[in-house]
Amino acid sequence: MKEWTARAGALAPEGRHFIDGRLVPSRSGATFDTVNPATGAVLAQVARGDGADVDAAVASAQAAWADRRWRGLAPRARMDILLRFADQIERHADELALTETLDMGKPISDVRSIDLPEVLRTIRYFAECIDKIEGAVTHTAPGSLHMIVHEPLGVVGAISPWNYPMLMAIWKVAPALAAGNCVVLKPSEQAPLSCVRMAQLFVDAGGPVGVFNVVNGLGPEAGKALALHPDVAKLTFTGSTAVGKLLLAYAGQSNMKRVALETGGKSPQIFFDDLYDLDAAVDRAIGGIYDNAGQVCNAGSRLLVQRGIHDAFLSRFTARTAALYRPGNPLDPATTLGPVVSAAHQRQVLARIAQAKGDGAHCAIGGAAPEGFGAGGAYVAPTLLSHTTAAMAINREEVFGPVASMMAFDTEDQAIALANDSVYGLAAAVWSADLKRAHRCVGALQAGVVWVNCFGDGDMTQPFGGYKQSGNSRDKHIDSLLSYMQGKSAWFNIAD
Ligand code: NAD
Repeated sequence: MKEWTARAGALAPEGRHFIDGRLVPSRSGATFDTVNPATGAVLAQVARGDGADVDAAVASAQAAWADRRWRGLAPRARMDILLRFADQIERHADELALTETLDMGKPISDVRSIDLPEVLRTIRYFAECIDKIEGAVTHTAPGSLHMIVHEPLGVVGAISPWNYPMLMAIWKVAPALAAGNCVVLKPSEQAPLSCVRMAQLFVDAGGPVGVFNVVNGLGPEAGKALALHPDVAKLTFTGSTAVGKLLLAYAGQSNMKRVALETGGKSPQIFFDDLYDLDAAVDRAIGGIYDNAGQVCNAGSRLLVQRGIHDAFLSRFTARTAALYRPGNPLDPATTLGPVVSAAHQRQVLARIAQAKGDGAHCAIGGAAPEGFGAGGAYVAPTLLSHTTAAMAINREEVFGPVASMMAFDTEDQAIALANDSVYGLAAAVWSADLKRAHRCVGALQAGVVWVNCFGDGDMTQPFGGYKQSGNSRDKHIDSLLSYMQGKSAWFNIAD
């Protein structure tokens, strides 16, 4: 930990915008503070962008689009630049990890073992896809030639959240760039610093200026201006369902831009009493809710447990959690649970726990801020609320913190009904040794991602996104790259 603490003292994070290849302050000169949630200390001043800064960034991206400096490159040349971009990120991995940990509170070992490797995999995957995109020549009558080609869209606006600041941004930026678009990214105001650094590294890797711009600022100011901008062809968003709904309205009020949404979740995990290995399943249930302090869109926050194993599950869960997730200093490589992103978020999470208790839930573990982290540390102890009912707010609303709720069920039909009783539909899991049953459940569950006898597993070939109010698009997978393109039909008269 000493090593990281010493390096943290030497870090000089950059909070300006990155527009047209340069770090620039806001035109208004306004800034806001970004705070280290482990201590409450101000980490950096960040440029508070508004419509004028967004206009400048979009104009830069539009100029890069117009003169074809990016989309006009041969696919292999674009691929080489993106591969060098990944190499640059790898070269600066420690600096980026430290920035992320201080800005967002995530344990440094998580950034180094999860976020950064996933960022590299994402950029390299989409870089490698570039020359695999194929159009079509359809069968037509003699005298005609019909081609369908994929073309990039133009300027893509990306608005990202704070829970995996680099990774959620790069899930958007990498396929958008690979497709040949120019990008303006508005990162979350809660943890913007690593995104500014990534945009600089893109240019260091040989990326043309203006192709990847970052505007910092608050959602209702810079974010809204980007969403309303008439020269943005597509808006791609990860964040809350409430903001996602606003973005659909902004698109309608402006230029009918495409809007891709990855939004909230309340993911159920169904544990049948015939599952293979209760101890292993409980450990995965614990990881499914306490990883990243529960600030994961697909967090397995609703634990549906068949009555035959309910009590054994509960006692194993309560006994194992402290061994697996202990709150600590995020700069300590042994820490597995950092603070939540801010003091304001800590208050919201604790209020939801208090409400659940008031509604009659039993607090089996946690339920409060742990002791020993000082007034500035935004920590929440890993919390399990058992004996809950479907009607309780704790089973209906996203908490986005280290808080699981547990419900007992008797039959498969009941489990499916409880699982689907949500406005969300991002992910779900089924634990059973009966593969016929698991297969039936996969068909019945209303979720974009379903795991069987595992949770959170996957790679770049897995499309990731939600049903219902969890969103309308998919990240990862080559389909995501194609979603940043549009099809053009070209019909030739080649008759003599
Ligand atoms: P948020 O919706 O508060 O903010 C997300 C982004 O939207 C930020 O950059 C914010 O500045 C911006 N924003 C806020 N108001 C805006 C407005 N009026 N106009 C334009 N932009 C605006 O979400 P958050 O708190 O940063 O992230 C947590 C949420 O993200 C959770 O609901 C979580 O489930 C969701 N999430 C979803 C996925 C997924 O893949 N489905 C992944 C990660 C997080």
